[in-house]
Amino acid sequence: MTETVQPFEADVGRVLDLVVNSLYAHREIFLRELVSNASDACDRLRYLSLAQPELLADDPELRIQVIADPKAGTLTVQDNGIGMGRDELAQNLGTIARSGTARFLEQAKEIGKEADAKLIGQFGVGFYSSFMVAERVAVISRKAGEAVSWRWESDGRSGFSIAETEELAPRGTAVVLQLRGDAKEFLEAPRLRQIVRRYADHIALPILLQVPEGDEPAEAVQINTASALWRRPRGEITEDQYKEFYHHTAHAFDDPYARIHFTVEGRLSYSGLLYVPGSRPFDLYDPVRRHGVKLYVRRVFITDQLEGLLPRYLRFVTGVVDSEDLPLNVSRETLQHNAVIAQMKKGLVRRVLDELARIAGAEDEETRKRHLEFWDAFGAVLKEGLYEDGENRERLLDLARFRSTHGDGWVSLADYLGRMKEGQDAILTISGESLKALRSSPLLEVCRAKGAEVLLLDDAVDEFWLPMVEGYQGKPFRSLSKGEIDLSAIADLEPQGEDAPPPVADAKLGLLIAFLKTRLEGEVQDVRPSRRLTESAVCLVADEHGLDLRLERFLKEHRQLDALAKRVLEINPKHALIRRMAEMAENAAERDTLEELAHLLLDQARIAEGEPLPDPGAFARRLSGVLARAVGG
Ligand code: ADP
Repeated sequence: MTETVQPFEADVGRVLDLVVNSLYAHREIFLRELVSNASDACDRLRYLSLAQPELLADDPELRIQVIADPKAGTLTVQDNGIGMGRDELAQNLGTIARSGTARFLEQAKEIGKEADAKLIGQFGVGFYSSFMVAERVAVISRKAGEAVSWRWESDGRSGFSIAETEELAPRGTAVVLQLRGDAKEFLEAPRLRQIVRRYADHIALPILLQVPEGDEPAEAVQINTASALWRRPRGEITEDQYKEFYHHTAHAFDDPYARIHFTVEGRLSYSGLLYVPGSRPFDLYDPVRRHGVKLYVRRVFITDQLEGLLPRYLRFVTGVVDSEDLPLNVSRETLQHNAVIAQMKKGLVRRVLDELARIAGAEDEETRKRHLEFWDAFGAVLKEGLYEDGENRERLLDLARFRSTHGDGWVSLADYLGRMKEGQDAILTISGESLKALRSSPLLEVCRAKGAEVLLLDDAVDEFWLPMVEGYQGKPFRSLSKGEIDLSAIADLEPQGEDAPPPVADAKLGLLIAFLKTRLEGEVQDVRPSRRLTESAVCLVADEHGLDLRLERFLKEHRQLDALAKRVLEINPKHALIRRMAEMAENAAERDTLEELAHLLLDQARIAEGEPLPDPGAFARRLSGVLARAVGG
């Protein structure tokens, strides 16, 4: 017998600790995880056997057994599925393969002991949850078609050993838990029956429970209906069954936000059960993350890796789709460009968006509020659909919610249109890195004076869809940080007071502007009087034909641009400082001070816009100089 002892990968120890500590109150879920793995193993074998029927030959009835042995103190979950070879055992049960694990653990550490079931749930605890109830776990496995079995064993602390063994013919996996002293309840028939029923009733394979009661030898009793849940009539499925099915397919622990159960008959026939998760998966922005929808063909699992089944912007959706039309022996490789799949994809997207719209537009406010929570978690991802999926753009815009200058809550575009001012012909937007900075941006001033609402866009993705989307219900989107803005058709909320000082006369202003253009040459593209400022002296905007300010910053950060384009500096002819500067421009003796002010104002505008200062040292020196003079130094 060859035996090797190997340490766990570092992350495994950390996941184990986290799981044991934070899920202890729910430790019975280990059984759900093991049954779930067993069912996946059978699904995978059934798929392989389509091409290689001999793999099923000696033992054709796929099933899962849960066997208690009170004398030995062990509980075994056994399947006759695909099994694992030696390397797979080491790889699957000795490492944490999912990308983003390290980041997840950091997050969990920050939350500390609070790392609750919900967080763990997003991660999917899997096999390691066994160690909540077991002091030792042995996994005996024989891969379908192979002649040897392997025994993996571990106490969940130091590492694991793998050795060859004779057990477990012809194939499959047995997970044998040596239960801890405080976990003996998982040997009792009523307790086991209750848990397995609860967690596994939706599983489409027979689950046999084998628990000796008293001295009677154990009899194997099938305790589930073993029919595919998504094929059962809606009225026969309980909320708990729906929820457990979600936990199983999503590897999740939370309650789903929405569920879509449907059967389509007609030119194409398929059924499905899809879920939108209740909380944001920790790897939602991981570039390799895919949707979690499994494709079945007439109840046979085919793949959970088919990108073409749902668009990227619905990558948080999980569940099952079962086609009646595809051939069973369809190869996974050709599915990507299959016409049936393309057709189903359209239908699935429509169903998901319909359900989201139903909740968003529900009669009662409580339900509508749920949409806001959903949007908070997933809105930035759905917005990717605004540029990817022209066909569903309007429907996505209906679902979209925004922060705006109208209060602190979320607003819909319909709300916005309802509040548009007379003379206003566009949906006004401003984008930037943080809501807080946006709310105090000088670019909003004219809108505030006119009571015109502005949408505050703080998701990076906003920069990408805005240029693609023509408008909403005939009203175009208009960014305040780009080009000239003329809102003179909208009346001011309060008319200008009689005593308001007049703006700088045109001739004087022309002189100042000419001065600024020469002194700031190379730093700005243009200097012009502003129609958007009422309080601030200056602001920076993008050229009408250029990229929006924030998009440029974003592209530069991601090395798609070498340098930011030059901005347009707008000055406010009504501002006291600008008035005074216009006087200084006429006086040769004050030119040096004026130049200092010009540079300071430009840097100040950069700061207000969130742009980097090209020379912060020079800014600080100039500012100190001006302050020293102001305090008489
Ligand atoms: P997950 O199921 O989320 O991938 P687990 O930690 O539960 O994570 O399992 C890790 C991997 O081990 C699985 O992806 C699967 O490849 C393999 N595995 C677990 N249990 C079984 C089993 N009963 N039969 C075959 N393979 C299994």
